[in-house]
Amino acid sequence: MELYKFLPQTNCKKCGKTCMAFALELLQGKVKISDCTPLIEETKYKEKYEALKELLGSEEGIEKELHIDIDEDLCDGCGICVTCCPVNARYCPPTLSGKAPDVPHDKHQLFEVKDGKCVLLNLEHCRRLEADGRERECHVCEIYCPREAIKILYI
Ligand code: SF4
Ligand code: SF4
Ligand code: SF4
Repeated sequence: MELYKFLPQTNCKKCGKTCMAFALELLQGKVKISDCTPLIEETKYKEKYEALKELLGSEEGIEKELHIDIDEDLCDGCGICVTCCPVNARYCPPTLSGKAPDVPHDKHQLFEVKDGKCVLLNLEHCRRLEADGRERECHVCEIYCPREAIKILYI
């Protein structure tokens, strides 16, 4: 609520969500202040913008780092994450038809199953880290893991 007070509160959805949802994601470090374009572009919100920056102690918002946590005890090596991750699908074509990726791995490949367990290979290519931020909301691997072994975290 404290962060919400400093947003325009118009629910214009230019950020793709409501102001309340935006405030929550700001707190979680999933969005930046600048993702609310009315706040930074419209002069009538200048005071709110300045106050929000001061409250968060940063121009950008709360900086948190993406982690994809795989619980080895829960993972049974089914490989569903390998075939459902859209980055794997884009760069490792066999995964599109549910097959194992080619070896050697493409440098973008995010997941592989090794010795019966899922291994995260190249987090830097996760859609959540793409420069334009269009896919910040991707959580396909977390949703489709049948063992609930994958957790997307911002720490
Ligand atoms: S862009 Fe800003 S004003 Fe519009 S809904 Fe998102 S947080 Fe609210
Ligand atoms: S989908 Fe889940 S259980 Fe299957 S390999 Fe991936 S992490 Fe392990
Ligand atoms: S969040 Fe999306 S792009 Fe990132 S690893 Fe999971 S499925 Fe792949």
